Amino acid sequence: MNSETTVQQVTQFREIFGDDFRVGVSLARYTSARVGGLAEMFLVVKSGRALQTAVSLAYTLDIPYFILGGGSNILVSEAGVRGLVIMNKAKAVSFRHSGAHMVCTAESGMNLSSLARQCITKGLGGLEWAIGVPGTVGGAVVGNSGAHGGDMSGNLLAATIWEPGVGVRVYSAEEMEYAYRDSVLKREHGRPGARRVVLAAELKLTPEPVEVLMARADGFTARRKQTQPAGASVGSMFKNPENYFAGYLIESAGLKGYRVGGAQISEKHANFFVNDEEATADDIRALFAEAWNSVREQFGVEMELEVELVGDWKFED
Ligand SMILES: Cc1cc2nc3c(=O)[nH]c(=O)nc-3n(C[C@H](O)[C@H](O)[C@H](O)COP(=O)(O)OP(=O)(O)OC[C@H]3O[C@@H](n4cnc5c(N)ncnc54)[C@H](O)[C@@H]3O)c2cc1C
Repeated sequence: MNSETTVQQVTQFREIFGDDFRVGVSLARYTSARVGGLAEMFLVVKSGRALQTAVSLAYTLDIPYFILGGGSNILVSEAGVRGLVIMNKAKAVSFRHSGAHMVCTAESGMNLSSLARQCITKGLGGLEWAIGVPGTVGGAVVGNSGAHGGDMSGNLLAATIWEPGVGVRVYSAEEMEYAYRDSVLKREHGRPGARRVVLAAELKLTPEPVEVLMARADGFTARRKQTQPAGASVGSMFKNPENYFAGYLIESAGLKGYRVGGAQISEKHANFFVNDEEATADDIRALFAEAWNSVREQFGVEMELEVELVGDWKFED
């Protein structure tokens, strides 16, 4: 932190956010893969309003910003992230009736799986698929997360979004342009320029008996335990290519159990890459490069990463 502007930027954030703002924070403990370098600047926000204030200020000061939800769908480079990482802990939730349905409004930093549990105990169905999906409502809205045949596109009525240079706007489900693990916001990733930020989401729920919802959720949890490894990972590394399962392709390429440094392709599910021995981000990257190349060579399929690479990465080729 030696340039004059940066010192001014730090001072401005400190004045507004106090100790919630820090400099040089390791991101490894805030990501599910438990790898990654430092965030140059790091801020924890605890309300939608604080989130909005933070991104507006970063945008005005021309500081690159990155919204960190649960860190369960990203791989942060060892070199870390320049600019400001905003860790989203805005968690307010409310419910209202809407005809035969209920609408849940959740701030984007709410933990998705906890929200699904809260809905079940209230006898509100629709979000059971999200039990056991790590991360936040915001991350799921961006990535159209899903499981067991359900996904965010099936629940979302509207999303309140902060847009750089525009301000706050409500997006309808259609405007999110949802597809398999994809949305209009996810397609911004990797492009230069400031990104849109999800502040809150309105989700549609339907009253159902609590026992029915609990039984469904328990079934999903059991299936997850049976098929997925425990331990630090980013979940599915690759999207399922059309007509294939990524895990099946990686397993068929003979890579189950394959290891680079402290990272291993899971013996239980070959699309899960587990950090079981203090892996580095580079170990995991080498592992997914090997899987991608092997699958392409052996089956002619070019898999697409489901996980987003964040920070500064050096690619030789
Ligand atoms: C063990 C395990 C199991 C998993 N199982 C599943 C599964 O069954 N189904 C599934 O779909 N996924 C699964 N995942 C992946 C992951 O849980 C989801 O993609 C999740 O929705 C990511 O949310 P997050 O808050 O962790 O996002 P992060 O990883 O923090 O962020 C992901 C991206 O979204 C952006 N983002 C986050 N919040 C906001 C916001 N408020 N506004 C704008 N951008 C935002 C980030 O900037 C980043 O670009 C699994 C992961 C793990 C580790």
